[in-house]
Amino acid sequence: MSDDAAPKIKASLAGIGLTFLAPAEDDASATPVQAAPGKPIEAKVVIVGSGPAGMTAAIYTARANLGPVVIGGVVGGGQLMITSEVENYPGFPDGIQGPELMGLFRKQAERFGARIVDADVTRVDLGSRPFRLWAAGVEYRAETVIVATGAEALWLGIESETRLRGRGVSACATCDGFFFRDKEIAVVGGGDSALEEALYLTRFASKVHLVHRRDAFRGSKIMQDRVATHPKIQLHLNRTVEEIQGGDFVESIRLGKTDEPGEETLPLDGVFIAIGHRPNSAVFHEWLETDEKGYLRNDGATTASKIDGVFVAGDVDDSRYRQAVTAAGEGCRAAIDAERWLEAQEAHEAAEHLAPAAAEAAR
Ligand code: NAP
Repeated sequence: MSDDAAPKIKASLAGIGLTFLAPAEDDASATPVQAAPGKPIEAKVVIVGSGPAGMTAAIYTARANLGPVVIGGVVGGGQLMITSEVENYPGFPDGIQGPELMGLFRKQAERFGARIVDADVTRVDLGSRPFRLWAAGVEYRAETVIVATGAEALWLGIESETRLRGRGVSACATCDGFFFRDKEIAVVGGGDSALEEALYLTRFASKVHLVHRRDAFRGSKIMQDRVATHPKIQLHLNRTVEEIQGGDFVESIRLGKTDEPGEETLPLDGVFIAIGHRPNSAVFHEWLETDEKGYLRNDGATTASKIDGVFVAGDVDDSRYRQAVTAAGEGCRAAIDAERWLEAQEAHEAAEHLAPAAAEAAR
């Protein structure tokens, strides 16, 4: 089936008009996940998460004939599902809509036999093998697990921010900065992300307003000095964003003052929210190592976690890069790590099986 003939869904998400490939439910290549009633679903590899890391792991493990099951979440696809134009994913010189890109990832994984379940994992038991996971009342048993549950950008939580997301409101300067050439914009936040994004955005924007709710930044001193002395950056301390104003696109922001009475309005074209991210790791906290922010840890050199046979990939372990392409790369690494681990496991079991026979023959 050509992409043109592929089923497409038109939808509006967070105010963004979207067209993307439908899950290939009626595609002959999509393999349903089925188990006898009351019986667990067994798989060599269970992948949790269906963003770029999870789906890349699915493509690789499916092509290695490992028959992966992807428990992808009720709202699958990860952060790209709430991104409009993606211009920095290699291979798409004209750019591509985030949801359409994730539709293609999914189609490619299903083409090789990955089975994808649109459900959330609510409980796991990684205490012994096979590992056990539960989603939508169904138990899954896996010889290896790849955790690729991603991270979510934190938002201010005001209505106008949601309405104008993808229409001038963004949480990713690397992804969207390019669209604001010679425009005036604001960055909201006071940590290293906000300081870094403000500096990065000066490459494009004519002026960057850095809005922070307190009078002191949380970010590192060197970054504070850089923003304070940058000719394109204007600081707005003790200011809270009360409203992002605009019809179809951002036109201004209304700021509240925490150090004096009154409000101010800044006319501008874009607002970057940089107030932190939250990794989707809660269900694994009991079992896997985390840092102080809840990001899961793998061993760095590989994607192995502290539990033998459990691998961690993508934004759930990455507070630094957080790009679709880096997540996809880590999904590939996790798939190769899982495949090699399974091979080693099978070789070990075969050796153990043969040992008594060899000993008997030697007598
Ligand atoms: P962060 O350090 O948690 O900072 C979040 C900032 O957003 C804080 O200044 C916070 O204000 C503000 N904020 C939180 N909720 C808000 C709300 N509802 N409204 C307004 N402001 C709000 O997060 P981050 O900047 O993403 O950094 C995360 C970690 O990554 C940090 O350890 C950071 O050092 C690291 N990082 C490092 C680099 C680098 O080394 N190049 C770059 C980026 C991030 P308050 O200060 O008032 O709490």
